[in-house]
Amino acid sequence: MENCIFCKIIAGDIPSIKIYEDELVYAFLDIAPINPGHVLVIPKEHHESASTIPEATAGRMFRIGSRIGIALKRELDYDAYNLHLADGAAAGQVVMHAHLHVVPRGVEDNFHWNWRQLPYADDAARAAVAEKLIRRLANGPQNND
Ligand code: 5GP
Ligand code: ZN
Repeated sequence: MENCIFCKIIAGDIPSIKIYEDELVYAFLDIAPINPGHVLVIPKEHHESASTIPEATAGRMFRIGSRIGIALKRELDYDAYNLHLADGAAAGQVVMHAHLHVVPRGVEDNFHWNWRQLPYADDAARAAVAEKLIRRLANGPQNND
């Protein structure tokens, strides 16, 4: 993709601090980390959404993201890590080349996701939501429609 900043990073046209690379994925330090050591894992192939990434590559992103998380704990003394992926602008995606954030976390790092927890109106409303999702997913893991 010509105007994609992350494709340019993979091609070496924009500098980055590489942490890991293989035939499917590339991982590098986020330029503006939540905590030092914050890494982005991206597919080498351009995909705007994670939903179109082939399963082998998506699996590799998750595996390498987890390995980086372990490395952050072992080498930089973090307590934990978040794996985060924003898919779509409304979800907070700014760079439109899918990327998995590996965010190192400490017990007292003073960073909060502001996670909220809403109730369903009633059991029927909850069941209706589940029924729609189950029906859509019944046509298999590869189907993106
Ligand atoms: P998003 O909000 O799309 O999930 O995250 C995009 C991330 O990419 C941000 O955390 C931002 O700091 C990072 N980022 C944006 N441009 C660059 C860049 O040129 N180099 C690096 N290393 N990270 C970048
Ligand atoms: Zn791209």
